[in-house]
Amino acid sequence: MPRRPLWMLAAGPVPAAVVAVPAMNASAGTVAKPAANPYGDPNLISLAEPLALALLARLGAFQGDAFARRIAPQPRRRRPRAARRPRRLGRTSKAALSVVNGMSFRHGPRVCGVLTDAEVPGFWGGLGLPGLVDIHVHFYPERMLRRVWQYFDAAFWPITYRWPDDARVAHLAALGVRAYPALSYAHRPGMAADLTAWALDFTARTPGCLPSGTFYPEPGVLAEIDKALAAGVRVFKVHVQVGDFDPRDELLDPVWGRLAETGTPVVVHAGSGPLKGQHTGPGPLADVLARNPRLTAVVAHLGVPEYVEFLDLAERYPRVHLDTTMACTDFLERIAPYPPSLLPRLGELGRAGRVLLGSDFPNIPYPYAHQLEALARLDLGDDWLRAVCWDNGAALFDVARIRPADAGDHKALQDIERAAGELFRDIGMPEIADDPPFTRAELLNYMDEGRAWVAVDGAGRPVGYLLADLVDGAVHVEQVSVHPDAARQGIGRALIDHVARWAGRKGAEAVTLTTFRDVPWNASYYLRLGFRRLAEEELGPQLRAVRRREAAQGLDRWPRVCLRRDLGKG
Ligand SMILES: [Zn+2]
Repeated sequence: MPRRPLWMLAAGPVPAAVVAVPAMNASAGTVAKPAANPYGDPNLISLAEPLALALLARLGAFQGDAFARRIAPQPRRRRPRAARRPRRLGRTSKAALSVVNGMSFRHGPRVCGVLTDAEVPGFWGGLGLPGLVDIHVHFYPERMLRRVWQYFDAAFWPITYRWPDDARVAHLAALGVRAYPALSYAHRPGMAADLTAWALDFTARTPGCLPSGTFYPEPGVLAEIDKALAAGVRVFKVHVQVGDFDPRDELLDPVWGRLAETGTPVVVHAGSGPLKGQHTGPGPLADVLARNPRLTAVVAHLGVPEYVEFLDLAERYPRVHLDTTMACTDFLERIAPYPPSLLPRLGELGRAGRVLLGSDFPNIPYPYAHQLEALARLDLGDDWLRAVCWDNGAALFDVARIRPADAGDHKALQDIERAAGELFRDIGMPEIADDPPFTRAELLNYMDEGRAWVAVDGAGRPVGYLLADLVDGAVHVEQVSVHPDAARQGIGRALIDHVARWAGRKGAEAVTLTTFRDVPWNASYYLRLGFRRLAEEELGPQLRAVRRREAAQGLDRWPRVCLRRDLGKG
């Protein structure tokens, strides 16, 4: 039987070049060869995103030549009018289709002309956004990644972004995805805690990655959740069909309660699509919500295929969100088209803060840009796109908006530094609290040279700032301060990540800083953000000069350390 890519069988006329986007090569060593008979291994099947399986099921694949002939592209025949299919999203006249990088796009109500990944920054920039927040991104431990991709190989599912971790991280940064989780999920007991630990470690060395976790109905699950929350996990993921568990399992009762009371979002793949499971569908999640009406559940894939029922749930419960993952793309429209009649409600829900951009990067058989195109052509308006692509996710994860500081900010920056300094008084370091903030002239100097940034809250008020110098070829964080009222919102991290991206663009190898070794929100905080401690002999001449200056200012009364975060590594 002809071994052709499955999506081609499903998709008919979509051109074969879809995987050629964009031209970037994974190092061959990281990608495993397909297993001899992956279908024989139930673990492999349960590990994978099951959309491919749905296609298999739908197409009844592997039934031999007769089947292959049946689904091969047929000569075009004009259907009688009555038999034409109803309108689907993203369908338009042949003349309005263009093919770019092997992907077809409609000319219709396109926003800022998204065609390729290279144009994605133009898309959000054109909307006036600082980037994208993507709630549905996968990173897995190496071993799991291999098996997931082996499975996709076996299903002839071309993964557009079949690259090593660091290349995928770099691509997300290039796309302007400012915040994203590292989602993975367990298909059996005994693995969730390890996946969470891996994701936390990955987050620590990955700018922009949200601390992510997963759980499974097994003894001790609540203790694991508490441990994960204490370690800073800010989003969980579970997959009802792959996990094959009932969300109403009594082991999970206290877990949903804990997530509801801590306001921690959980991405739930609960819909019966692409594969139906024993416990998929809206019913079980509806029961969980009835008992935990404040749960921040994020229904993946807009709930495919039970779009109406999950939209109902989101309208009924104020903390239920929907993520757009794969929804409305040409790919999913062929399998489970989104009903156009629901669009007004989806529009309203999005503007109310509860539709979130999701992509399924990297396991998608089309370019990332196509997800944005799919949303833009829904024609729900620029406000809706701004809400979905940035505002709603940024609000959920307190992603601060960061902009260059300007002269008008100088008083606010001094206030932030005074307020942040007060914290040192409580730990017996009053000299630091009494240290005057940077003068206006000093701040203006940084601003003029484009080395000062401010994080602002939703109302545009400065809540944190960062000043950077160039030291020994690295970008050196001279000062980073967050107002105590805005603590624990990831703002310090966002500022550091922001300057790390800036440093990367300037060709710097690393970000460095000096800090107090024993102040809890100093050295150990930065170590969690992916910095490492530099040994004395690793300091360059300019960094040594920084240290001498600090000593002269009396800072060495308490142990100081130099830290460095290398750039360009996952
Ligand atoms: Zn996914």
